Amino acid sequence: FSSESYRDTWVEINTENIKYNIREVRKLHAEDVAVMAVVKADGYGHGAAATAVAAAEAGASYFGVALLEEALELREAGIDLPILVLGRTRPQDAPVAARHDIRLTVFQEEWLKEASRYTAGDPLLIHMKVDTGMGRLGLINDEEIISFLNAVTRIPSIEMEGMYTHFATADELETTYFEQQYARFSRVVALVQQMGNAPQLIHCGNSAAAMRFPERCFNMVRFGISMYGLTPAADITGHLPFTLKEAFTLHSRLTQVKEVPPGTSISYGATYTSTGNEWIGTVPIGYADGWLRAHADNQGEVLAGGYRVPIVGRICMDQMMVRLPHEFPVDTAVTLIGSQKEETISVTEVASRLGTITYEVPCTISKRVPRVYT
Ligand code: PLP
Repeated sequence: FSSESYRDTWVEINTENIKYNIREVRKLHAEDVAVMAVVKADGYGHGAAATAVAAAEAGASYFGVALLEEALELREAGIDLPILVLGRTRPQDAPVAARHDIRLTVFQEEWLKEASRYTAGDPLLIHMKVDTGMGRLGLINDEEIISFLNAVTRIPSIEMEGMYTHFATADELETTYFEQQYARFSRVVALVQQMGNAPQLIHCGNSAAAMRFPERCFNMVRFGISMYGLTPAADITGHLPFTLKEAFTLHSRLTQVKEVPPGTSISYGATYTSTGNEWIGTVPIGYADGWLRAHADNQGEVLAGGYRVPIVGRICMDQMMVRLPHEFPVDTAVTLIGSQKEETISVTEVASRLGTITYEVPCTISKRVPRVYT
């Protein structure tokens, strides 16, 4: 059997827009500041390998992923630039990382000792993670940082290539907490430098920080959500130094179109009933595709024939219904995210409709929906 898609529902990724977003962030930083393209979670649902290739073409020189398997997937796709795993990897899996030249995030002295029992062969490059206020992963106190650094120097097979922290509020207009985290990280960097252990790469900026505070990003930024053209938070959209270009669009086609008389109920639970003669179209996408039932609950709309049309009735596992302004032919294009004629439904609009953040929307569209690249 071929791996061809037989369905009329697909995601289109505009790789030119990804390149544009990367180039724009590059322009904000000096030449010697590296751009790490964060392609975890299958490139935030956009496809990891294809978006990594586009990012590299536009000037990204490093990749970030959450899991060791995501790093291996990039290696299998032939990507040979440096990759950092941002989550914790088990110490017994360190040799797999070393063998494939994959950098690991480390923040426990015990981990170093454990891993050193396995990493006799290829050298392992690590980035020390410091928790400056995110409360998720990282070393906290000066004492434990000093002890960690001393432990690294005692292990010949492990080399500290980088150190980093992660901001909790870089995407908020109020910057007090961000400033506190930055100040703490700067003190830790100074401490590491005093000890003569300064690593080659020092980084803290996510998309929000990379765009809003380029002077506070040391020599690498970890550019995730905005590489895909999505705002880290609606509040700061108007405060960004360039206009982001969304890369993710979602498409389908009508599979049935029918005129129903007044009083006709639609979908499970018969929660929608037509009030007059209405044209109802069926769209082959549902919650198993990550097109969640909440879209209907929150007065969701899609585009068909250049119009905004409402979703009616509950969303099913594989299908949903929409109310059309008049008859449309079967196979008419339906745009769930993207543009038709004068109308656009952005990822940002969909996120706000669902009461969530932009990150969740493309990540939620399941693997069952094929990704097509333009
Ligand atoms: N760095 C780390 C450690 C992360 O967990 C993430 C994503 O959550 C990023 C960088 C990228 O952040 P953003 O997508 O906001 O640019």
